[in-house]
Amino acid sequence: MEPIPCVNCATFFIARNRKQNYCTEAECQRARKAAWQRFKLKFDDQYRIQQRLSQKKWLQSKPGYYRSYRRRNPDKVKRNRALQAIRNRRNRQRSCSQKPTDATLIAKMDARKFSHFNMVGQFYLVPVIAKMDVSKVNIYSISNSYL
Ligand SMILES: [Zn+2]
Repeated sequence: MEPIPCVNCATFFIARNRKQNYCTEAECQRARKAAWQRFKLKFDDQYRIQQRLSQKKWLQSKPGYYRSYRRRNPDKVKRNRALQAIRNRRNRQRSCSQKPTDATLIAKMDARKFSHFNMVGQFYLVPVIAKMDVSKVNIYSISNSYL
């Protein structure tokens, strides 16, 4: 089997089978599990209910956890407020328009990253025109040898 790039770290590795998209590094396995959980939470109602109950139970055993977390991480609070404003705006636009939102349900679980691009950061393009959706974009720097 030919080496393929890992979905998470983009280093080439030899997959055990055609379904393996992540290498065996611990960080990449964590990313794989997180992606699996995101997928499961989105599409499996029973799993989502069980997770909510479990989280509720955990939080009851640690009262004041989120209050102290927010106090310790003011930058995260600021980021979350900005992202929530974007989500609120997106939800408002969705509830106003009658267009089907099936396009947003497509999950790109097997997307590959390019190893020779260096990501500068992840940004949100917030449109000024009212009827456009917010887009998340990755900005990469490309060295001159590729141009
Ligand atoms: Zn990897």
